Amino acid sequence: MSFYGPFISRRLGWSLGLDLLPVVKTCTFDCIYCELGCTPESGYCSINHRVEVDQESMERIDYRITTIHKSKIPVKSITLSGNGEPTLVSNIGDVIDLIQKIKKDYDSKIPVTVFTNASTIHIPEVQNALAKVDTIIAKLDTTEQDLFEKINKPHNSVPTIDQIIGNLKDFKKNHPNTELIIQTMLISGRLKNFEEEHIYGLVESYEKIKPDKIFIYTIARPTAVEKVWKVRLEKLEEIRDIMIQKNNKDIFDLHGKIDVFGPSSEL
Ligand code: SF4
Repeated sequence: MSFYGPFISRRLGWSLGLDLLPVVKTCTFDCIYCELGCTPESGYCSINHRVEVDQESMERIDYRITTIHKSKIPVKSITLSGNGEPTLVSNIGDVIDLIQKIKKDYDSKIPVTVFTNASTIHIPEVQNALAKVDTIIAKLDTTEQDLFEKINKPHNSVPTIDQIIGNLKDFKKNHPNTELIIQTMLISGRLKNFEEEHIYGLVESYEKIKPDKIFIYTIARPTAVEKVWKVRLEKLEEIRDIMIQKNNKDIFDLHGKIDVFGPSSEL
């Protein structure tokens, strides 16, 4: 377990990051664009694999989060992310309870945010834990199974992309008070996920899931494999406009819900 920051996140502003995972990257995906590098064999795991945050780490979390609230550092988010997929932590629910308790004790409004690749969101204990955070930022880069397998390289225990879309939809339906943001990484180079048919598929899935917000973003740091390139900001804005045009408002209105983060908007 380690902390990082406070740092400026291009999507969340000033954030304090909590990495609950071991030093070996631990993930159910091996995304070709991952800024952490390739997922090593020892950390490439099933959706049922679990690691645990020990008591000493819980005490460190207690101390650091309390200090942040006491000192009134202008942090905009306490973010659970880091060296892989945070929902693989068996006691993530206890960590979230602890952070929310401190927040309540200090009458603080700093939201707790979890980044997830959504591969475990259907698992009841993961769902119960995630329902207690303020914001979930969930990955959805494509709606096509073959592209999903090529871009995100999911472990063979991961549900299909159609099932993940259904799971995200169910999560939002069952937990309307938890903010759900879908983040879609658009890439160019060896693979492209923003051709017309990809955009239509994404619009349909956003309409199904009905998230509170959508982040469209691109590469800002070195990638796990070569020849994975960023998409220009102007292109991302064009894609957002096409998405809004294709949107069937009778199902779900995307207007005003899509934020675009280009490669140059990163600090
Ligand atoms: S899900 Fe996140 S941590 Fe895991 S490989 Fe993909 S980008 Fe990296």
